[in-house]
Amino acid sequence: MDIELTKEDDAFRAEVRRFISEKLPRELAERETVGASGERGALRRWQKDLHEKGWVAVNWPRQYGGTGWTPMQKHIFNEEMAAANAPRLSPFGLSMVGPVIYTFGNEEQKKQHLPGILSGDVWWCQGYSEPGSGSDLASLRTRAVRQGDHYIVNGQKIWTSYAHEADWIFCLVRTDETAKPQEGISFLLIDMKTPGIEVKPIISIDGLHHLNEVFFTDVKVPVTNRIGDKNKGWTYAKFLLVNERTGIAGVPESKRKIAHLRKIARQERLGDGTALADDPAIMTKLSEIEVKLTGLEYTNLRIVADEVAGRPAGPSSSTLKIVGTEIQQALSELAVEAVAFYAMPFQREHLMGIANEAPVGPAYAVSVTSAYNFGRAASIYGGSNEIQRNVIAKAVLGL
Ligand SMILES: Cc1cc2nc3c(=O)[nH]c(=O)nc-3n(C[C@H](O)[C@H](O)[C@H](O)COP(=O)(O)OP(=O)(O)OC[C@H]3O[C@@H](n4cnc5c(N)ncnc54)[C@H](O)[C@@H]3O)c2cc1C
Repeated sequence: MDIELTKEDDAFRAEVRRFISEKLPRELAERETVGASGERGALRRWQKDLHEKGWVAVNWPRQYGGTGWTPMQKHIFNEEMAAANAPRLSPFGLSMVGPVIYTFGNEEQKKQHLPGILSGDVWWCQGYSEPGSGSDLASLRTRAVRQGDHYIVNGQKIWTSYAHEADWIFCLVRTDETAKPQEGISFLLIDMKTPGIEVKPIISIDGLHHLNEVFFTDVKVPVTNRIGDKNKGWTYAKFLLVNERTGIAGVPESKRKIAHLRKIARQERLGDGTALADDPAIMTKLSEIEVKLTGLEYTNLRIVADEVAGRPAGPSSSTLKIVGTEIQQALSELAVEAVAFYAMPFQREHLMGIANEAPVGPAYAVSVTSAYNFGRAASIYGGSNEIQRNVIAKAVLGL
């Protein structure tokens, strides 16, 4: 693989750094460091700045408002954003449904939905999973029955991240009960304000509200909100999942976390006053994770080089997802170990970024336990790691 950076790549990196130093609000970057979730208004302003610069849709083609960047430029951009603690923009519009709409949607749908996704004015959520239909997604039972120009949708979705904040949901629905499971599914875009939609919170193990159940009772959805052909939703759903998994790997974010952990290790002391950074036990663990991450980074770069040569990532995104999430979980475990008893207090206001007094312990300790707890989900969402191993066995190894 050829991963030499050109002079243009170096100049591009400098430009990205300049933009970040001028535009990224310090307050937003600091929140990311302590792990607090960003407030919607601040995130929206950050997205607007990126949008004005034309940098919001890194992976989209230029004709739809994307950057048109080379795979290497995208890689550099993601690295610099993560290194600067820039908050990740919500992936549901930009990385998931946006590409489905510009690839399989009609002109009307592109006109209606792409501008709001780019500007950040319209937030999306993902309605795939149902009780009993997670790994076995094709067994989903939410039904859409056609009545004239509308579908009448009935059923339930679960684990719907940020449905309580979303304006629209993209849903997999069953439109043919008689066909094979994969062949009777359609892909619908549904306005969350439509009567008959009820969102119920699920409070996760970190004590916060990210997840929901979404119930549909006789929800009337125009047929024009269907993407592509009836019963072909599975094709669009799989296309979307490849993008989702590649994003979950989070190599640059893990690199930042390693650097952050090294900083913590220089500040934290053992009982005898020795700096944690001089403790071989913990530093060996950190180095082992770093070695694994370097391996993953080169796998990622190999995929980037393949893309430059016109060979798309496809099922190799499953490898990135497995190793990337294993690294994230190992890092969050080490962070708990590093801050020791400061991992104990549950400081909800600080986690939500709404506290008005100083935290117990150092600011970097506030979110380590919630990140550790919620991080267990990384090997489950986007398709569990066991399922990714099945994908690799079939599609990569041909077993
Ligand atoms: C934090 C979080 C956020 C999520 N956000 C969303 C969202 O926004 N939208 C959405 O639609 N979904 C979302 N999900 C749902 C997620 O995609 C599913 O949880 C996931 O696909 C697993 O499905 P399941 O929970 O039904 O588990 P199950 O499918 O019941 O699996 C249970 C266990 O069995 C294993 N298993 C199942 N089948 C096999 C097999 N064939 N071979 C080997 N092992 C197997 C699994 O790996 C897992 O360990 C989210 C989940 C979490 C935890």
